[in-house]
Amino acid sequence: MKSLKRKRDIEDHERLERAVEELDIKAEIKDFSDLPLSQPTASGLEASHFKTLTDIQSKAIPLALKGRDILGAAKTGSGKTLAFLVPVLENLYRARWTELDGLGALIISPTRELAIQIFEVLRKIGRYHTFSAALVIGGGDLKEQKERLGRMNILVCTPGRMLQHMDQTVAFEVGNLKMLVLDEADRIMDMGFQSSVDAIIEHLPKERQTMLFSATQTKKVSDLARLSLRDPEYVAVHEAASSSTPTTLQQYYVVVPLSKKLDTLFGFIRANLKSKIIVFFSSAKQVRFVYESFRHLQPGIPLLHLHGRQKLSARLDITSSFSAAKNSCIFATDVVARGLDFPAVDWVVQLDCPEDADTYIHRVGRTARSEKPGKAVIILDPSEEEGMLKRLEHKKVPIKQINIRKQKEQSIGAQLQKLCFQDPELKYLAKKAFESYTKSLWLQKDKEIFNIDKYDLEGFHASMGLPGAPKIKFRKGVDVKKLKNAPRGDDDEEEQAKKPEVRTKYDRMFERRNQDVLSSHYSKTIADDDPEDAGSHADADEDNDFLSVKRVHQVDEESSSSEKEEDVAATGPAAKVIPGIGKEPIVIDSKRREKLLKSKKKLLKLKEKGVKLVYDDDGVPHQVYELEDEEDFKKRGSAAEQRAKFLEEEAARIREADLDDKQLAKQKRREKREKKKAREAAERRGETLEEAPRLAEAGEDEEDPMALLASLPLPEDEDEDEEEEERPTKRPKKWFEDASEDEKEGAKKRKGKGRVIEAADEPETLEDLEALAAGLLN
Ligand code: ADP
Ligand code: MG
Repeated sequence: MKSLKRKRDIEDHERLERAVEELDIKAEIKDFSDLPLSQPTASGLEASHFKTLTDIQSKAIPLALKGRDILGAAKTGSGKTLAFLVPVLENLYRARWTELDGLGALIISPTRELAIQIFEVLRKIGRYHTFSAALVIGGGDLKEQKERLGRMNILVCTPGRMLQHMDQTVAFEVGNLKMLVLDEADRIMDMGFQSSVDAIIEHLPKERQTMLFSATQTKKVSDLARLSLRDPEYVAVHEAASSSTPTTLQQYYVVVPLSKKLDTLFGFIRANLKSKIIVFFSSAKQVRFVYESFRHLQPGIPLLHLHGRQKLSARLDITSSFSAAKNSCIFATDVVARGLDFPAVDWVVQLDCPEDADTYIHRVGRTARSEKPGKAVIILDPSEEEGMLKRLEHKKVPIKQINIRKQKEQSIGAQLQKLCFQDPELKYLAKKAFESYTKSLWLQKDKEIFNIDKYDLEGFHASMGLPGAPKIKFRKGVDVKKLKNAPRGDDDEEEQAKKPEVRTKYDRMFERRNQDVLSSHYSKTIADDDPEDAGSHADADEDNDFLSVKRVHQVDEESSSSEKEEDVAATGPAAKVIPGIGKEPIVIDSKRREKLLKSKKKLLKLKEKGVKLVYDDDGVPHQVYELEDEEDFKKRGSAAEQRAKFLEEEAARIREADLDDKQLAKQKRREKREKKKAREAAERRGETLEEAPRLAEAGEDEEDPMALLASLPLPEDEDEDEEEEERPTKRPKKWFEDASEDEKEGAKKRKGKGRVIEAADEPETLEDLEALAAGLLN
């Protein structure tokens, strides 16, 4: 009997193998059932209600099944995840991968949230397979992960944590690896992740299949060499090459002076209370201020905020409640929101102009996913209009100007002023948001879009409710290049070097020392604040670091955006406990922090002044900004006194944070238990809520960090459908009007009104096509 089954099994495998060999890569495959897929995958897809393939899937999957290396470029929301997950499952299945074979496929994601989402999809479609799979992200329990890793066949990871395991976990063998996948590949290949990715790759066997996916593909040939791709197949899908964003996406821009931006946002939210909205900002500080202040103003829609400074657990709660919400408005930074798939987002609002067109495309990609309708609006300062439109035109983004209806205009300036007056904390956030925003403008690389002299910064300052003239502390002689963390592509050194010569009043503003004396309130909040929230990847710099030490990027792997988040943001279970100051153990969750705590003198300075430290390649901290005189230092008391005081304060703070974390973890466990019970009860009643995915077997126990996602609601496909049916009826109130309408009214004041960038009807040249598809080989 057994041998009979075995025999049939072998026959099945052989049949499948032949079918894959014979599969015509040119054939236009429409349904998953037309692909030579194993029974478990076919059933998993069916149970997840996936029937027809998307374009990228029908182009990439056949090639990938045949073992080819792939560079996949397709718009956001076009189904890239399945394009690599199906081949991962299938190729391992056909290779008869078992637990004994160890790691077969490694999937790398730039952020933890995205890794979780990929893992979720893997769990859904892989539920009938017997592979073991795990999520390897920071914030999980390192030790637990270590014990399990050796037995895993498929891993979804973030680079930093993966590397840590490769370096430290003894029984972790990757020598068998068959497949490597990079999702959001351009992001993973950029400088922030460079060293960790290189180090990971060094561990992997060269003989393997490699697949890269992104909406905007990695551009450099050198990147491809780094990954040792073998004759990769470039698979790009951009419908008729007419636009690089989904056709179901309607894109608009509004020209609004910086000083009216918050009013505009508020008015927009008020006019779209029945919508699901994502608002993008360039820095976490902007997010925090707008979130806190708008909460007070109560626009009448649930507000959420998401940035890298939050703990992973909080971020997961937030992303899942936003996913589940029918109407909600979330304020987010670029880094954390990259690649995330939120169902049924109506609007993407870009309040801060993105640094480049690629960032624009990734942002708007949070809506209009998988052929569903969606809308996006970018709010541009008059000085940004021309430059940005040019960039978008170049990328064939069809965008149309709209104006705000007069009746919908609201002014919240006075209210913000009052709030800031009443609440010093809010005022402080406003100040920080202002500073980080101004700095990010100053540091922007694309000077055709961003010219700091052209913004009404005073007006902006006032619009945030801040009294007086803006003060910005910044210092010349700072390595601007270093400040601009994790840049895309190479920095233009010359341009940067020239920078300080072109001095403007803002240069002087930046150079001025901060003349404020920090009140005790400030020094309390300073832990959460550092002057380095600059650069368009500023949120990359966010974390929960109680010391608020910001590392400048490109120092090493930890300096990459989400990796840093990953490393530091979790003060939870990933923490390493070292016996420390005071009776309680002090929780240190990064090596660097540990090092820092030991480096007391530097800490002292940091604490006193909120000064940024930059780490060189050896991990030795240096100050970027201003050096304190020894005399100034001594004035505040002897070094020993200061040190003692500082350590005491820090220890207390840590104990507090630790307690919070514990409570949070406890609550989470309770919730999980309750959920589990409910599920079991439902199952007893015969209603299967969600089949226990076999894939996740190894990761289901109580404390399992890899089962983190068990606490996330699995998307219920039926619900989604229901929601979909409801949604079309929800019509946004007309917050805007067509610019052309406006023209009729004769109210035009500026040139360029009603300008529509239409994508060219026909792609001009093959190069154009290529460039559009991602300009891969340049
Ligand atoms: P991308 O990575 O290209 O941005 P995702 O893989 O996140 O896109 O997929 C976007 C959405 O489309 C997801 O909600 C996913 O469930 C859905 N989707 C993907 N493939 C299909 C398919 N073949 N049929 C229906 N929906 C799909
Ligand atoms: Mg994706």
